[in-house]
Amino acid sequence: MEFDQLRAFRRELHRNPEPAFAEIGTAARIEGAIAGLPVDVLTGKEAHDLSNVVDYPSRETLEKWESAAVLSGVAPDRARYFRDHGTAMVVDVEGVRPGPRWGLRVDIDALPMRESTDPAHFPAAHGFGAINGAMHACGHDAHATIGVGLLHRLADRDFAGSLRVLFQPAEEGVRGAQTMLDAGVADGIDRMLAIHVAGDLPVGTVVGSFTGGMATRKLRIAFDGKASHAAGAPEEGRNALLAASMSALAVMGLPRFSSADTRLNVGTLVAGDGVNIVPSSAVMTCEARATDDEIVDDLVERIRSIVAGCALAQGVDVDLAVMGRSATLTPDDELIDRIVEAAGDESTVSEVIRTRMVAGSDDANLLIRHVQQRGGQGAYIMTGAASPGPHHSETFDVAEESILIGIDVLESLIRR
Ligand SMILES: [Zn+2]
Ligand SMILES: [Zn+2]
Repeated sequence: MEFDQLRAFRRELHRNPEPAFAEIGTAARIEGAIAGLPVDVLTGKEAHDLSNVVDYPSRETLEKWESAAVLSGVAPDRARYFRDHGTAMVVDVEGVRPGPRWGLRVDIDALPMRESTDPAHFPAAHGFGAINGAMHACGHDAHATIGVGLLHRLADRDFAGSLRVLFQPAEEGVRGAQTMLDAGVADGIDRMLAIHVAGDLPVGTVVGSFTGGMATRKLRIAFDGKASHAAGAPEEGRNALLAASMSALAVMGLPRFSSADTRLNVGTLVAGDGVNIVPSSAVMTCEARATDDEIVDDLVERIRSIVAGCALAQGVDVDLAVMGRSATLTPDDELIDRIVEAAGDESTVSEVIRTRMVAGSDDANLLIRHVQQRGGQGAYIMTGAASPGPHHSETFDVAEESILIGIDVLESLIRR
């Protein structure tokens, strides 16, 4: 694929963004873009296991995104397929010589937010602004394009080893990587990579690996009590709202840790049915983060004790579910050396930064950790994309040359 084809593909994804687990048209477009290449494709159950997903989109939601995909030109049978079987895709290409098994995670989901329609915003000015109420405000349209472009480059199979590209749904909310791990698609990979555009770095800058990051757990806690008349029989009620509010305060009152950086947030709390009814239900979401993987688990255990105690105090039932998770990242020096070397040889790369600390939490770290725990290596590459607005803002946009640079660096890394 030439640059103008890559750019057109990215713009089509950008114009039709889809949020977590609803990437129906995106998956179909990726499938179409790699059709005819000498690759093996895994989809559905072979690519991810959705049985443990908390709050998977409803049938109704998926049908809405399916219709939008068909309206935007996706073949109806393929849209139906990805609606019914999930949107992850795993694509393998075998080199002609023996060598390491490479893995590359690219995420494909967009965010549930509106894109700027200001004519100064590049996608709006060039007619590919989002048309459906979601937005690629984190560059995952660019990542999916990098995955597709790299498969085209390596289609001559003139390299040692093999490459497996993991097109992952639901990175936002750190929910998708675990589903792919659960299907076993990271097993057997020797060198696990991920790539992300960096909106705050100039085009031509490449980071060998991001490092650190925070381990995180996203929790959904449901309290189930009993309604009763607030004046006539308040003592017969079991107050779920109170159990949840007491929990919210206690969670935010957990101690800081002396040995690691931690974060806690109670993000939402929805409770009750009416002003004169003892509230019978409450659902709270909260997240814990830490720069240490054991401490984040410790925080979750403490939250578990808090909600159990508050539920007991109010005589209600409680259920705590982990909706999303990620780990910290410790990339491998030897692999970073290879990336830095490959990037340094590219004429389009003007600056190579070896590593960079990032405060966010990305679930590619789970895939990398999985491979490392089995004796493999991992790293997370960044390519500068000079965005006018920050990630997750309505004016985020990637300079499209960053896509080409990402492909160049990955190709040269795998071919050398
Ligand atoms: Zn993001
Ligand atoms: Zn992202």
